[in-house]
Amino acid sequence: MLLFKTAQQLDFELKRLRKGGATIGFVPTMGALHQGHISLLKTAKKRSKITVCSIFINPTQFNDPADFEKYPVTISHDMKMLIDAGCDILFLPSVKEMYPKGFVQTNPPDFGFLAQTLEGEHRPGHFAGMAQVVEKLLRMVKPTHLYMGLKDYQQQLIVGELIRKRRFKTKLIALPTMREKDGLAMSSRNGRLDADARKTAVQLSETLNWLKKQIKNPKSQIPNIEAEAQQRLQANPAIQLEYLQIRNAQTLALPKTKKEKLVALVAAKIGGVRLIDNVLV
Ligand code: AMP
Repeated sequence: MLLFKTAQQLDFELKRLRKGGATIGFVPTMGALHQGHISLLKTAKKRSKITVCSIFINPTQFNDPADFEKYPVTISHDMKMLIDAGCDILFLPSVKEMYPKGFVQTNPPDFGFLAQTLEGEHRPGHFAGMAQVVEKLLRMVKPTHLYMGLKDYQQQLIVGELIRKRRFKTKLIALPTMREKDGLAMSSRNGRLDADARKTAVQLSETLNWLKKQIKNPKSQIPNIEAEAQQRLQANPAIQLEYLQIRNAQTLALPKTKKEKLVALVAAKIGGVRLIDNVLV
């Protein structure tokens, strides 16, 4: 695996590879890698000649400074996982490299409702920061394919919009959420859960699965199922529910009928750790 810390070095190597006709699959991450990240990389490896992974804990997407401070950093462990998974190139830029002194973002895209609802409401500025760094990374890597997880459901919808708005040639591939044996969605933040919180956390995926089954019942109604699912989580004082919502899977608008393609999304704090999960229903 090659390691580059500057966009210039990365560009030099990628130009050379592209000239040779290589397709490039890109997996952007914030590190503290787990099997969810590795599943993206493995699919990228199958579909593209060259795989690039980036690790960059992007300060501009953290609305909560304490969350940024506590974000796990496990670079040597990450590098080993990437080598074992057969990653070709790791891009590991510094904050200075991504945001040189005096850098100002011009003309940030407006994602409208898509970025204002759910996570947008609970994490003001998060999507603007995320889109800013993804746009920069896409300009640096110019990948043929971009691999992202459905785990961050709203994020991948917004990145899809970013690609359309900026007319990037990159094709976005969103892949299923990898889970622990008990159903908890893998996340870099799971390591911060203590034993009690870890046990409680499984209720998020359990509730989403329950909800999915209920939706399939022809007699059930969206508002009732949503309310009951919320109550199930709120009944546990160890869970601080931020939202549990059933939305249109493309637009995140409130659904009018069960005939629409739907997604149920949840965000909650458990033991001081903010977790998100979702399920297509
Ligand atoms: P992060 O490092 O949290 O920014 O995540 C980097 C990429 O990995 C994003 O596209 C995430 O959606 C994806 N990802 C995170 N967790 C999982 C998971 N459990 N399964 C699949 N993809 C994931």
